[in-house]
Amino acid sequence: MRMSQTVIRPDKNPPKDAATINHRLLVQAGFVRQLTAGIYTYLPWGLRVLRKIEQVVREEMNAIGGEELLMPMLHPAGIWKQSGGWDSIDVLYKLKSRTGKEYALGQSQEEVVTPLMSEFINSYKDLPRAVYHIQWKFRDELRAKSGILRGREFYMKDMYSWHESQEDFEKFYEEAKKAYLKIFSRLGLVAKATEASGGSFSDKISYEFEVLTEAGEANILYCDECEFCVNVDDIGKYDEGGECPSCGKGLLKPSKAAEVGNIFDLGEKYVKAFGLQFSDQEGKKRYPVMGCYGIGISRTMGVIVERFNDERGIVWPESVAPFMVSLVSLGVGEKAEEIYQQLVKGGVEVLWDDREESAGVKFADADLIGNPYRVVVSERTLADGEVEIKRRDSDTTERVKLGELVDRLI
Ligand code: ATP
Ligand code: MG
Repeated sequence: MRMSQTVIRPDKNPPKDAATINHRLLVQAGFVRQLTAGIYTYLPWGLRVLRKIEQVVREEMNAIGGEELLMPMLHPAGIWKQSGGWDSIDVLYKLKSRTGKEYALGQSQEEVVTPLMSEFINSYKDLPRAVYHIQWKFRDELRAKSGILRGREFYMKDMYSWHESQEDFEKFYEEAKKAYLKIFSRLGLVAKATEASGGSFSDKISYEFEVLTEAGEANILYCDECEFCVNVDDIGKYDEGGECPSCGKGLLKPSKAAEVGNIFDLGEKYVKAFGLQFSDQEGKKRYPVMGCYGIGISRTMGVIVERFNDERGIVWPESVAPFMVSLVSLGVGEKAEEIYQQLVKGGVEVLWDDREESAGVKFADADLIGNPYRVVVSERTLADGEVEIKRRDSDTTERVKLGELVDRLI
């Protein structure tokens, strides 16, 4: 993509109302714009990042047998009344049509997916099943001041599964937990699987996946030696500085964290509310065990920015970077076009700063945008048939022969 041909411009001035790093940098670099508190537009480069995160999540959900579908965001009130959510869920947005019909905006999808699947799950032979979608959610959040970490409209992957027995459910639940850890590590994040109570859904244990960051809203205690981690807001029985109850070696350290995903055992709550039953091997009607598995895709994008930045801007991990390369050409005309074409043909995602701007402005914008590599084309190195290459996360500049550039970058 050529910067001269996109409407989007980085802007070194921080937005007035940004209370968090992700909000400030995502606006400055030209990835998002806030329409009003908690509601954002994803500009072209921001959308590329969101899609990359989404694709990693999709691949890993498919790998454990999840089937992707797409459910609506606008829901008739009836299904929410049937589950009890209409009156009990305070974040549910409710609206009325001009003919007086009531609707809700989807804040989660159990009320849609459970009656939907009751048409398809009838026998033990139809189990286990897992379906998911990646869709916008709406929640009337009271505080939406953490940039895209907490939206009133936000992008989520939510998967739902049904099982013949608790045992089968628990087997899948463990697979889902592993898939989650894989997803976050592919995205460059270390997510801690935190045991928590099931919140509004059930009294069963669930996992929250927490990433340490000051911008997060959760308070956790984590072991500095092993994987043990608990949510302080949930479980009062552990002490800061205390010995780790899991490995007995490490000490429990406090931290702020952001919840990037969670998985819940929903038990029979929704299958009972919507009459989803199957015939077991003896022909007896039974309720399956149901689980749900969320990942905040847009929140994860914000968390990545909170974790990977410096005083100059964002430092995207390669797996989610909008482009692999920022190509900076300094007054070399035709030759830069040639190198740009060479990169594009070689399958390298490249953002070419072909604007009539000074080297200083181009370098500052490349750092702010945060693509993993910067390639500089100038007369000085071209004389030797070379360009200059630098990783965003390093201060070391190297020279690379033009013929080796593509190989170096893919
Ligand atoms: P939180 O405690 O942060 O409000 P939650 O328990 O309400 O999260 P779920 O309903 O389980 O979250 O949603 C699944 C995932 O969606 C969460 O783990 C989180 O990553 C993301 N999420 C939840 N609420 C928001 C929001 N308002 N904005 C952005 N992402 C969100
Ligand atoms: Mg919530």
